[in-house]
Amino acid sequence: MPDTALPDSWDARAKASSFFGFTDLPSIEARGTVVLTHGEGPYVVDTEGRRYLDANSGLWNMVAGFDHPELTRAAQEQYARFPGYHAFFGRMSDQAVMLSERLVEVSPFETGKVFYTNSGSEANDTMVKMLWFLHAAEGRPQARKILTRGNAYHGVTVVSASMTGKPYNAVFGLPLPGFIHLTCPHHWREGRPEESEADFLARLVAELEETIAREGAETIAGFFAEPVQGAGGVIPPVEGYFDAMLPVLRRHGIPVIADEVITGFGRTGEVWGCESYGFVPDAIISSKALTAGYFPMGAVILGPELSDRLDRAVRVIEEFPHGFTASGHPVGCAVALAAIDLVLNGGLLDNVRRLIPRFEAGLAKLAAHEHIGEWRGRGLMGALEAVRDKATKEPFGSELSVSEQIANTCTDHGLICRPLGQSVVLCPPFVMTDAQMDEMFDKLSTSLDAVFAEVA
Ligand SMILES: *Cc1c(COP(=O)(O)O)cnc(C)c1O
Repeated sequence: MPDTALPDSWDARAKASSFFGFTDLPSIEARGTVVLTHGEGPYVVDTEGRRYLDANSGLWNMVAGFDHPELTRAAQEQYARFPGYHAFFGRMSDQAVMLSERLVEVSPFETGKVFYTNSGSEANDTMVKMLWFLHAAEGRPQARKILTRGNAYHGVTVVSASMTGKPYNAVFGLPLPGFIHLTCPHHWREGRPEESEADFLARLVAELEETIAREGAETIAGFFAEPVQGAGGVIPPVEGYFDAMLPVLRRHGIPVIADEVITGFGRTGEVWGCESYGFVPDAIISSKALTAGYFPMGAVILGPELSDRLDRAVRVIEEFPHGFTASGHPVGCAVALAAIDLVLNGGLLDNVRRLIPRFEAGLAKLAAHEHIGEWRGRGLMGALEAVRDKATKEPFGSELSVSEQIANTCTDHGLICRPLGQSVVLCPPFVMTDAQMDEMFDKLSTSLDAVFAEVA
């Protein structure tokens, strides 16, 4: 037996056995991976016993922290009662029915219906298939194009990746034809020199009008938007964006879908991001905080008009031929019911609202740094964008990987935050205390100073 046959560290085992998605290879080659064993409130603990304050709620989703007894109890009780069932052939669990009722009740819709998936990507794909299906049943088979925005993140399946407005999808030969990306509504970066916010907004609305005229309204199946772009770098839209864009879409009969996978269930300080921006979409895509990250689950929540139209379309061919084996899983539904209760009635949303001023003040304070170009955010999601020159907004050279360096330095200090482009993103769990939030900003501040002292 060669004595080098088996790698012994968790890092070596992880690298030898597993693929990491969305992971910068040179970075893990230089620094190693982090293998985690458990969590305590907003902290996670690795195999070496190191504790990290997770300022990203896992991947935007673990809003109740990593050891919430009510959520684990809901899962355990449901596993004991009925550990799995599908939602095909006219059968589904009682938990799925109860969750659908609850989702419509807490939605901005008077009435509506729910369809389950196992992820946000699948929920977006499902929504696109619903739109294609119902337009075809209504005699508009050509209505297939999907409008989204640059920097949008809608997922990784072939359709949701095509909706995503990120250049990295080119390595897969995506987007598919018919997925049209409008300008990202980020005034600070996308606005032209001297262009006011109002002029920028007018340009975006004109672009939408021109796109619809060029493509033909009858060829467009729907418009998808995150109320606040998340994985694009936490980008709240320019002031007045939805108020200006939606009337144009409505005039042309184009359904408006809010991708609330991150913003849903309290992240922006309201239950839904669309509430924070004062609009009611035709459907909502939900996942992530839906189960507080304790179970993989996504949901399409259709408002009254789309659910009636889909019902009628289904009657035409007597079946909607779509569904995932595990969708509407009774354990996921039981966990989601408990998570919704915890957020809405158990004090989590109240804590978000209480923390927002402290969060914004912390971001604003760090944004005074000469190498932070702007801070932006909404509710408990925020970003700090690093720049070489604050006045000209000139970024650091990409070869410096400044945001990665900041995030890596934070990790060394026991704080997990996420590099996204040239910015560092914070998306803390809803259970944070004031002291934990102060710890987060202290560690980030120390790391910013250290990295900028090196690169600037
Ligand atoms: C994460 C995310 C998705 C994709 O969800 P997955 O569960 O990772 O497939 C879709 N839309 C938005 C806005 C997201 O943040």
